Amino acid sequence: MAGLPGIGKRRTAVAIAEAVNCLQPLTTADFEIDACGECASCRRIARGVHPDVIAIEPGETGSIKIEQIRDVIGRAAYRPFEGRRRAVIVDEADAMAAPAQSALLKTLEEPPSASIFLLVSSMPDALLPTVRSRCPRLRFGGLTGGEVTEALVRDHGYQEPEARAAAADADGSLGRALAARSMDVAEAREVARRLLDQAARTVDSVRRLEVAKDLTGKKSSAVERDHLVVCLRALASLLRDVGILANHGEVQSLANADLLADLERLTSSFDSERSMRAFTAVDRALAALERNASPKVVADWLVLQL
Ligand SMILES: [Zn+2]
Repeated sequence: MAGLPGIGKRRTAVAIAEAVNCLQPLTTADFEIDACGECASCRRIARGVHPDVIAIEPGETGSIKIEQIRDVIGRAAYRPFEGRRRAVIVDEADAMAAPAQSALLKTLEEPPSASIFLLVSSMPDALLPTVRSRCPRLRFGGLTGGEVTEALVRDHGYQEPEARAAAADADGSLGRALAARSMDVAEAREVARRLLDQAARTVDSVRRLEVAKDLTGKKSSAVERDHLVVCLRALASLLRDVGILANHGEVQSLANADLLADLERLTSSFDSERSMRAFTAVDRALAALERNASPKVVADWLVLQL
């Protein structure tokens, strides 16, 4: 999937993952035409917590490493856990180091029957020609200012004038409009890490609720909600890693391998059962936010579940 940054390529990749795993697809007499967006599978994919939908993207170094690619190739070889198809989304695929791209070639040529690989890139020509030639290309055009405005109002809680102003600066890219106010992902992960540290150290609910303020406490309610979602995704990712370590899994399959020392320390309080329970609580918190629960209530509830 190729086109400008922030115009819906990754979102489309996620929509494809939903369509192939939807439990109640919308159909005509002969064809499944779309995912329902409502079933348990669609919702978990949209929340980023479906076990069969794996998204990888560049780490802190700015590149996608061969270990990340080997890990997903390894996982894609198995049957899906609960979905019909495993979907591997490689975001910013052009950030794959050359050896990582080469490692992927054979899999792109003959993908395992129950897996699909979706490469997303705003600079597809930076990919090796051998990779490009094995991928049918979907080209994405930029959005109009009106489309960006509409999406900001509909999906991101903007007021119309604010949305129009943001769209004017965004050059046809919804991602760019959102980035102007979204929380830095690294910052969100730091908040999530501190929260787990605190939960590991104390059962004192007053102290925990203190940390919950880092999860919210932003200006408008729409911004607060977006920030909380980013923090919760980071929290889910950390908990998944802690669970892997608690089960003596491969260090290479950690999403936050750069925090290995912190994660290992957490396993002394978060055994596999507690990390799984916490992960489920994060999933429920994300679902509650989708149903428009108050961010503050959700954050307070969550910190007491960890
Ligand atoms: Zn569905």
